[in-house]
Amino acid sequence: MTAKIIDGKQIAADMRAKLRADVAALAKKGVVPGLGVILVGDDPASKSYVTAKQKACEEIGIYSDDNRLSASISQKELMSHINRLNKDPRIHGILTQLPLPDTIDELEVLMAIDPAKDVDGFHPINVGKMVTGQKAFLPCTPHGVVQLLIKSGVKIEGADVVIVGRSNIVGKPLANILIQKSPLGNATVTVCHTRTRNLAEHTKRADIVIAAAGCPNTITADMIKDGAVVIDVGVNRVEDSTKKAGYRLVGDVDFENVKEKASLITPVPGGVGPMTITMLLYNAVESAKHAAGLLK
Ligand code: NAD
Repeated sequence: MTAKIIDGKQIAADMRAKLRADVAALAKKGVVPGLGVILVGDDPASKSYVTAKQKACEEIGIYSDDNRLSASISQKELMSHINRLNKDPRIHGILTQLPLPDTIDELEVLMAIDPAKDVDGFHPINVGKMVTGQKAFLPCTPHGVVQLLIKSGVKIEGADVVIVGRSNIVGKPLANILIQKSPLGNATVTVCHTRTRNLAEHTKRADIVIAAAGCPNTITADMIKDGAVVIDVGVNRVEDSTKKAGYRLVGDVDFENVKEKASLITPVPGGVGPMTITMLLYNAVESAKHAAGLLK
């Protein structure tokens, strides 16, 4: 079997077109969704993520309040930026690009963001709501993975899902979304990690394997059952002298071989990546609708 490739770029583009229409409809009611973006320091990867997020906001008509701050900023100064954005009625979502410098207490910063503007879904109040099945901002990458599955026609209900990775931003929230009694969930989920005794034993029986380990070739063809759905969240740089940058991006899955066994598979790049930003835009638009009293 050769897998059908899930086109994350196209699915994301379709969702963004719908969001652009939502934003235009909101504008007619005098509502412009606003996103406050905080970037501390000049890490090139963080800079390029933030630039991509701002460009995506512009494309669909979301106002973005850009805060590029020095790496030497104090905790107090950073908190004052968060407080200003918390109070600003034009701002419906606050995004703090992680990681923050070692001198900053990251948890204190995330806790200071108004949960009603926490479009990353990292505030413990939103995490608690998600775990207990209440309406909350869902973290963007896990939610993007679930939307990719749904829009590709994959039946999640009753499926055996194996997630490889237990981070707070991908593995754990994804497991929590997929086990909820909800249209996004009802799966039977196993979460594997570096202390899992026999990873292949788990992945081999899964209907859906989701790799979020951050290590190339973590998932090879012998670890997948015929016809499984394989979602690759990993983004890893590997040296490649044929590329201008000197490297190329690969996922956690041995794509070339696994695609011969799976029924559906995401590429890297062009799979989960475009969905992450799309779900951030989605959360910002939902937040603006909520603030304007247009949602229950
Ligand atoms: P992380 O390093 O915080 O967590 C990785 C997890 O994988 C850990 O829980 C670890 O226990 C597990 N793990 C690592 N190697 C393993 C192995 N061999 N077997 C079993 N478990 C293993 O990483 P993260 O922040 O969750 O990100 C994971 C990957 O996803 C990274 O490559 C990251 O760049 C990528 N990512 C992509 C997006 C996107 O939008 N596409 C967003 C977030 C993260």
